[in-house]
Parts: sequence; structure tokens; C-alpha cells
Amino acid sequence: MYLLNEAPIFLEFMDRFLKKANSKIKIKATDELFLYDKCVCNKHYCNSFILKTKRKIQKDFYMYHTIKTNKGTFGIELFDNGKFIFVATENKNLPFKKEHKILFKHKSSIKKNLIKNKQKQKLSKKDKKILNRFFKDFKIDPDYKIHYYVDDCIIDYI
Ligand SMILES: [Zn+2]
Repeated sequence: MYLLNEAPIFLEFMDRFLKKANSKIKIKATDELFLYDKCVCNKHYCNSFILKTKRKIQKDFYMYHTIKTNKGTFGIELFDNGKFIFVATENKNLPFKKEHKILFKHKSSIKKNLIKNKQKQKLSKKDKKILNRFFKDFKIDPDYKIHYYVDDCIIDYI
């Protein structure tokens, strides 16, 4: 697993995505939430990020929130074992796909140890341009906005 700041494009993406979806949450790089694993669905375009929190979650808690957009359907899935999945399976041109590929290229399990890269990852000008282009005409279906009760669930993980 990795600290969230190993994936600055994903972090910035989440920030803008959640804002557009009406969420009040800001996903920050903290000591509680980690980039944990990739999804095993094997869908061709899957760029889902599995995050995991160190915080204790109430037993049997589960939540899934779907977010329909003009650039595919996304989802937020929360489990009682601390897993927080950002589901992204319908768009092959997500700005963070290269980070997803680099971080989770290993076949063996990377889950147990915290992997720290020596080089600090930063958003480049090009990354910002790609993000700007993605969000310029990005629209969330108003029926799928994130309401305060979804925020209340997410906040327990960060
Ligand atoms: Zn998947």
C-alpha cells in the first residue's frame, strides 16, 4: 500500500470530482487512509482504486453510492473492514490511469507493506492540463449527487 500523496493526480481528481458531486468532503493525504490495491474485476477499462483506512469501522457497515456522469458511471463503496473503493470502470481516459498502472503493476500482493517512493510525486503542468480538460465539460447527473448522509459515511474513513 501507499500513502495517498503517491498519487497526486488521483487525489486532485477526487477533490474535483467530489466537489462537482456536491460533497463537502476533502480527501487529504493523511496517516489514516492508504492506497491499498487494485480491483480484481478484470474489466478492460477498470481504474478503480481500493483505498483502506486504519480507522475502526462499525461491524457490518456497508454503503454503495452510484454517481452517473456524462463520462461514465462511478461509485463509492465502503466496507466494514476499512476498504473504500472508488469504482471507475467505464471510462478508459481517466486522468489518473497512469498512476493506477504504475502503482499497481506488481503481480504479487503489495497490500501488507507500506511502500514509500523516494521521489516525491507532484502534479505536473501537463497533469493539470489533463485534469482541466476532463473537468471542463464534466457533468454529474443531478439525481446521483452526494448527499450529506453519504458524506457522513465517507468522513469515518479519512
Ligand atoms: Zn475493477
